[in-house]
Amino acid sequence: MTDLYSDEHARALDDADPLRELRAQFLIPRHDGREQAYFVGNSLGLQPRGARAHVEEVLDKWAEEAVEGHFTGQAQWMPYHELVRESLARLVGAKPLEVVAMNTLTVNLHLMMVSFYRPTRERPAILIEAGAFPSDRYAVASQIGFHGFDPATDLIELQPDRPDGTTSMDAIERAIAEHGPRLALVLWPGVQYRTGQAFDLARIAHAAHAQGAMCGVDLAHAVGNLELALHDSGVDFAVWCHYKYLNSGPGAVAGCFVHERHAHGDLPRFAGWWGHDQSTRFRMGPQFVPTPGADGWQLSNPPILGMAPLRASLELFDRAGMPALRAKSLRLTGYLEALIQQRLAGTLQVVTPNDPQQRGCQLSLRVIGGRDLTGRDAGRALFDHLAANGVLGDWREPDVIRISPAPLYNTHADVLRFVRGVEAWRDG
Ligand SMILES: *Cc1c(COP(=O)(O)O)cnc(C)c1O
Repeated sequence: MTDLYSDEHARALDDADPLRELRAQFLIPRHDGREQAYFVGNSLGLQPRGARAHVEEVLDKWAEEAVEGHFTGQAQWMPYHELVRESLARLVGAKPLEVVAMNTLTVNLHLMMVSFYRPTRERPAILIEAGAFPSDRYAVASQIGFHGFDPATDLIELQPDRPDGTTSMDAIERAIAEHGPRLALVLWPGVQYRTGQAFDLARIAHAAHAQGAMCGVDLAHAVGNLELALHDSGVDFAVWCHYKYLNSGPGAVAGCFVHERHAHGDLPRFAGWWGHDQSTRFRMGPQFVPTPGADGWQLSNPPILGMAPLRASLELFDRAGMPALRAKSLRLTGYLEALIQQRLAGTLQVVTPNDPQQRGCQLSLRVIGGRDLTGRDAGRALFDHLAANGVLGDWREPDVIRISPAPLYNTHADVLRFVRGVEAWRDG
């Protein structure tokens, strides 16, 4: 049996990694003179080295060309969002017409609900998962209230049905069937942020549509993490951010998908000039005519400086390709899981499903206690111990540490360092 735990083994796995060169494309923060083991790409991805050049290109263009920069030279600002369209479409498995980079995640969620949450007295409800990311819950509850309905009755939150706090597909389908006639919208995460559970979006969309409801998905923790097939999944809309696994910087411009079946309709929407038909936008006429596809939901001319780092990040995703990244991710997270089972079984409980098809790179780890420490203090103490040793995960109250090995820049050696850090704390 190979010794998973040895440095030699971790190094051999890293040497055999076909994507090993990509790590050098990122700026890895240092701790005590040594690179961090950074497992927080699910929160803020690391900076691609290419980001600075793309930002400087915009600054230089502004300095040298000013307003002309919209229409002249390289990377013109007028069609700047088109520079990321093809790559984004590849990344999420969509047609180019279906995707756009704009705004931020929660803003896009609201804009999508304006079009896809059209409640009636008979059908006012939205189904989400219990324990949804707070911003999503606030957005959904406020939309329900905005339409004159009551979140107390019309926001349906599905409780997890498995003891580890995850949710079976059966439970989701049962809930959609049970509430079907009252459901206007099913909003579901691609990967649940707290548990790390991944869902079969096509099945959820199918179940929602069978009941006459719309289906939207929040891919904040799924994009750049899973291989997605948004077009084929049939979901009506999707929203995501670009600062997590997409490594595009704090507050980066977000992403949005509108299925092709809605591309040419005139769904009600909140309109702005940038969503107006491009061929006539600058006639500055009084009547809004939406441009086809996801572009028709844009409001403002985009923040070019905020979009520039996304180009650098997408270049790396294009270079690696999601299939290869996912293959590495399965190896890396599988290695983490195997080491936890082998060395840390009494200390950490893996909350995330052990079926790789039901998770991305993240493992959510419940701290079940150290030598003489129990409960929430133990978890927090472990987390602090790791951070003090340059191993960065993130902490979710009351007792979960999330560790997300990102296949673009994490290594098997990073994973081993995490495991050793936990052991040092436990045995310390
Ligand atoms: C990260 C995250 C957000 C953050 O929303 P912003 O609008 O980007 O601040 C919202 N929802 C989910 C599910 C997230 O994971």
